[in-house]
Amino acid sequence: MRLIDRPEESLFPLIFDSMHELHAVRSILAKALLKAGESKKRIKSLQLVMGEISELDRHSIQRHWDEISQGTDAERAQLHFRFIKAEVQCMACFMKYQPMNGKIHCPYCGSYGAKVLSGEEFYLESVELVDE
Ligand SMILES: [Zn+2]
Repeated sequence: MRLIDRPEESLFPLIFDSMHELHAVRSILAKALLKAGESKKRIKSLQLVMGEISELDRHSIQRHWDEISQGTDAERAQLHFRFIKAEVQCMACFMKYQPMNGKIHCPYCGSYGAKVLSGEEFYLESVELVDE
């Protein structure tokens, strides 16, 4: 959980650490292969859910995916992303709101400082399988 309490601070990360993506992609691949393995089918596509302020870069995820899925049952499987909006809670008035452009600024009381409730997730939602 992150707390943002400076007005100039953006919820969108400026620097992407590619190792985070690699770790995330490895875990997604392992889960997808597990599902495919049970059914003896090939993986056609993956539906991924990504919070809009997740500290992961989608392009970096795609690059890692192309690389590590090679030679597996998930090779050339398409990645589909479903993005979900962020929600934060003001630490002054406790109202919940969706930050505009990743900026924390409470529309109710005008204060800066909020707790991130959602929008940082990244997970595998479903896998589409095809017969060989
Ligand atoms: Zn407020």
